[in-house]
Amino acid sequence: MAIHRFKALEEVLNRTPVNIELPSEAISDYYGKNVFGRDAMREYLSEEAYSSVLSAIDTGSKIDRKMAEQVAAAMKSWAKIKGVSHYTHWFQPLTGTTAEKHDAFFTPVEGGRAIEKFGGDQLVQQEPDASSFPSGGIRNTFEARGYTAWDPTSPAFVIGKTLCIPTVFVSYTGEALDFKTPLLKALHALDKAATDVCQYFDKNVAKVTATLGWEQEYFLIDTALFNARPDLIMTGRTLFGHAPAKGQQLEDHYFGSIPDRATSFMRELEVECWMLGVPIKTRHNEVAPNQFECAPVYEECNLAVDHNQLLMDIMEKVGRRHNFRVLLHEKPFAGVNGSGKHNNWSLGTDTGKNLLSPGKTPKTNLQFLTFFINTIKAVHDHADLMRASIASANNDHRLGANEAPPAIMSIFIGSQLTRVFDDLEKKVKSGKMTPDEKTDLKLGIGKIPDILLDNTDRNRTSPFAFTGNKFEFRAVGSSANCAGAMTVLNAVVANQLILFKKDVDALIDKGVEKDEAIFQILVESIKSSKKILFEGNGYGEEWVREAAKRGLKNIKTTPQALDAYISDKVIRLFEHLDVMSHREQEARHAIYLETYTKKIQIESRIIGDISLNHIIPTAIRYQNLLIDNVHKMKDIFNAADFKTNASTQLEMIKEISERISSIKNSVNEMTEDRKKANVIEDHKKLAVAYCERIKPYFDSIRYHVDKLELIIDDELWPLPKYREMLFTK
Ligand code: ADP
Ligand code: MG
Repeated sequence: MAIHRFKALEEVLNRTPVNIELPSEAISDYYGKNVFGRDAMREYLSEEAYSSVLSAIDTGSKIDRKMAEQVAAAMKSWAKIKGVSHYTHWFQPLTGTTAEKHDAFFTPVEGGRAIEKFGGDQLVQQEPDASSFPSGGIRNTFEARGYTAWDPTSPAFVIGKTLCIPTVFVSYTGEALDFKTPLLKALHALDKAATDVCQYFDKNVAKVTATLGWEQEYFLIDTALFNARPDLIMTGRTLFGHAPAKGQQLEDHYFGSIPDRATSFMRELEVECWMLGVPIKTRHNEVAPNQFECAPVYEECNLAVDHNQLLMDIMEKVGRRHNFRVLLHEKPFAGVNGSGKHNNWSLGTDTGKNLLSPGKTPKTNLQFLTFFINTIKAVHDHADLMRASIASANNDHRLGANEAPPAIMSIFIGSQLTRVFDDLEKKVKSGKMTPDEKTDLKLGIGKIPDILLDNTDRNRTSPFAFTGNKFEFRAVGSSANCAGAMTVLNAVVANQLILFKKDVDALIDKGVEKDEAIFQILVESIKSSKKILFEGNGYGEEWVREAAKRGLKNIKTTPQALDAYISDKVIRLFEHLDVMSHREQEARHAIYLETYTKKIQIESRIIGDISLNHIIPTAIRYQNLLIDNVHKMKDIFNAADFKTNASTQLEMIKEISERISSIKNSVNEMTEDRKKANVIEDHKKLAVAYCERIKPYFDSIRYHVDKLELIIDDELWPLPKYREMLFTK
């Protein structure tokens, strides 16, 4: 039996904040305590092994068997002191969550005894029986095994009594089955391409690292209310629910004081994060009621991705201890702000410079402009791929929903930098420039830091915005693995930097002076990618029209958006950069489509179930009360009085009947259409069928259910209402 919402509400009203005892030391005393990071390594490893791991992290060099043996032994000794009994390879299959399979440290030996065993072999490679993870057809049954391989660039950590070792997950034939493998390859390609371009400006740069600082939005809902909503349990979002009388229109939640229960949850979450070296720094209320955000200090991209995956996992666990369910879905409540995960991205050199931060001299500013403009051109040239990288059934509800970035890819750079672009276009000539012209140009770009200082115009509606010293990819969904978007962004920028260098070198070979060559190619890039720059309101209808005029695409649904992954252009790009093979891309495309179809299919089933098992029976019960009432009226009134007095009830009885049959008919039709769709074998066609033929029923069924919610006796309504889920503290 489903829990009636009154019982759930009663539970919520009796709750008090759960106060779990937290460390009283300063954060710096326990920060990273559960990570086998540099400090622990220095303590537990020989000099030789330590430098071997560091060089693997910094230069990607291989760690040999002997060193791996030492690292394993050290990890085990370190973990043992923490009372750890198990270890697991921790990986990120394409399901979107993380996966782990715990093994105890011991191995049985003869005589019924056991010895502790965790060596280099166990550290470096494992073969989880992973045949039920999505592979997009890459793993045939005869080669069902996939294996996980240690990623030394992300440190091992302890959760509970388990040592977790970050790993990649690949098929027996070496193809990527996870998010991490292509990300690491894209980061490698970017490092190489960006380091090469840096040589124009600074010969000391030997490595460029992409940095990522994500901002995680989420909702907190009381466990009791969550458990009374089968739709939340099964799909992570509410499939029904009338908008509350008060929504977010008062904007009184944003940056407001955080409710006590939420604060205790956040405190514990933060402590857990800090112990794991996840540098959570900021917390605040978000726009919608019961919506919050947390953000860390940025880190190297791969590590930041791991930390975000870890955070989502910990949130769930800590949430339960506080009688909360954490909703990471992009759109848990219709008509209420959705949740995103802004990906703040930049490039840092091993000489300590942020390449997207203007410098003090014309030379460093030319370097800034180089990376800035090449990023814009990369996003412009691969806007479809960028769009694909954030596509999911969940995110479709959010993109373009008037409070989220639109599905049109555009870039905001602010009016000051727009003026710099105009200026460059005017001043840079393709012929030879006079010394005066050159000086003038350099003076102009020398002023960039000053003009950026008063860069106050921040545009919240852009899907990709420059915010002073980084780009912010805002269209990423709250439940997504950042690696999807980051693999694409880093890959397209790497590709663009390679092309840029080729063009500049060609001009230099023709005798054009280096700076002039750079200027000329940059201006060409500005010209060819200008149409993606947009400073206005990205949520407005005019932008949709304007974007269409500019030839920018507005791809509204996931099945269509995903096509970009298998376009010839993208297949060549990823192959050329050695990020993914053609086969891997086809597989990924198939997996993403399949995931989409399954999500819509599950939602459709749940809509059917709740309509038939919860809503219609409740409506009938209330209708019977009305009918009973009408019968009794008939007994006490004469015919004329009865007609006037019972007319409202009679109308309601009729309305309920009409709505019940609309709901029932739509559910039946939807089920029939599902049956028809399910025989389609082609992944794309199947996903399109679910998108275009099944999904439209959702709104029409919901419409009638929500209308019933408004008229049916509150006492009878079984599902927690929006106002209860969003406003009960
Ligand atoms: P907001 O965008 O909300 O105004 P901030 O600009 O302070 O806030 O930063 C938001 C996020 O951007 C944080 O996670 C921060 O660490 C990250 N960030 C700041 N600088 C960089 C950088 N160079 N590279 C990547 N992320 C960065
Ligand atoms: Mg931000």
